[in-house]
Amino acid sequence: MNKPLRVMKFGGTSVGDASCIARVAQILKEAARENSVVAVVSAMSGVTNRLIEAAKRSEAGEREHAETIFKDLRKQHEAALAVLIQDGEKRRQVAARLEKTFADGERLCQGTALLREVTPRALDAISSLGERLSAPMVAGALSETGAPAESVDATELIVTDSNHGGADPLMDRTRDRSEARLRPLLREGVVPVVTGFIGATRDGVLTTLGRGGSDYSATILGAALGADEVIIWTDVDGVLTADPRLVPEARTIPEISYREATELAYFGAKVLHPKTLRAVEQAGIPVWIRNTFAPEHKGTKITPKGRSNGGGVKALTAIRDVALITVGGPGIVGVPDVVGRTFSTTALVHANVLLISQSSSQNDICFIVAAADAKRTVKALRNEFAQDVAHEKVEHITIDPNIAIVAVVGENMQGTPGVAGRTFSALGRENVNIIAIAQGSSESNISYVVAEKDMKTALAATHREFGLSGRSYLETVAASS
Ligand code: ADP
Ligand code: ASP
Ligand code: MG
Repeated sequence: MNKPLRVMKFGGTSVGDASCIARVAQILKEAARENSVVAVVSAMSGVTNRLIEAAKRSEAGEREHAETIFKDLRKQHEAALAVLIQDGEKRRQVAARLEKTFADGERLCQGTALLREVTPRALDAISSLGERLSAPMVAGALSETGAPAESVDATELIVTDSNHGGADPLMDRTRDRSEARLRPLLREGVVPVVTGFIGATRDGVLTTLGRGGSDYSATILGAALGADEVIIWTDVDGVLTADPRLVPEARTIPEISYREATELAYFGAKVLHPKTLRAVEQAGIPVWIRNTFAPEHKGTKITPKGRSNGGGVKALTAIRDVALITVGGPGIVGVPDVVGRTFSTTALVHANVLLISQSSSQNDICFIVAAADAKRTVKALRNEFAQDVAHEKVEHITIDPNIAIVAVVGENMQGTPGVAGRTFSALGRENVNIIAIAQGSSESNISYVVAEKDMKTALAATHREFGLSGRSYLETVAASS
């Protein structure tokens, strides 16, 4: 009989040092007794950031700084390896593989320093190195426990478009490659340990799926192989009712829908890469979020439909790295097609617009973009409306970077009247001023904008208002199960 197939992804903190990797090896070994297992691993925590810094320093001509970063990374990986693999010959084999990856990275940085330019393609090649270092280590640690394992580079499996820094998979080709390369290993009971975060174009040029993209790698492989489940192992107990770093009372949600989880991810819940569930949507494969450091907890199950908690609101999320742009003035009513022109301009500069709000008097249009896009968006808008500003039809085009969006998420908020009212009363009681609000017609997300300094208070007040940490919430969930 075929064993169930589970794809298990381990994030940066889960492979953060030797003792964490040893823990991961135990989880994998245990799972491999009764399942076919594909492991997907991130870089050790912090490594991708350091690699990107090395690339940027090289671009600035600061070669020595980049060299120091590589020296530190070598030390970190060698130290972990020394603890993890006792067998001298095996250790030398893995060390030689790591050394080759380091040498590739140093060459790429030297080239970058010479050219004084880091192209998106070179940046992908450099930032991918962390996963290419961690996968052989995890595979080595797993073999050390007696479970057969083999490190596999995802460039052999995941075929993507050429959108460097945010590539998407070409699923048919990915399916063929993954079947051809992984199925024989699985048949022999070997655990493939695959690099997260990366893929390659049809021509074999390395790409990355975007920061935090190893979650997406796991679901892409899960879909490609028709897995029974994908399990994302991380450093929290599951998807919580809010980011536990911002709301300490946040609780684990037992089950949540693809749509709710995606809304949370898009509005900043780092626990999941926003594209993660796209890959499994068609096949309806369940995705679990579980804690590597507390595997006794069941975690959160993400399913196509989720499960009602009876109360409408399921979770909150906040996003900080954003800016509010306002195009306004009493005269804009008379400016032809001001809305159309505003958003053609944001499209032209490829700004990511997260939320839009317009007063009915049409005095103001305000919208929110990612902080990284804000300056060039305002510049382009000032250009577009230069004539109207000169004729005082448009009074101001302003930017406020000190704001945050808080999103209230829950699929069955439709049919639960008063969610918006209760949210705003709760904020009023705490003297939190609401700058703008938006609600999608799907009513699975109500978002509001507050000053960044008020974000934590706003989250706490909303969390309390809907009893998200209270017993009633947990009891309702238990009762509906
Ligand atoms: P990994 O390295 O395993 O991919 P991440 O750091 O990317 O882990 O994501 C896990 C983190 O996401 C948690 O430590 C937590 O602080 C943060 N987070 C934000 N919102 C939520 C939420 N609603 N539920 C759980 N974790 C959240
Ligand atoms: N290592 C990559 C990053 O830091 C991918 C991931 O961790 O998911 O963005
Ligand atoms: Mg992550």
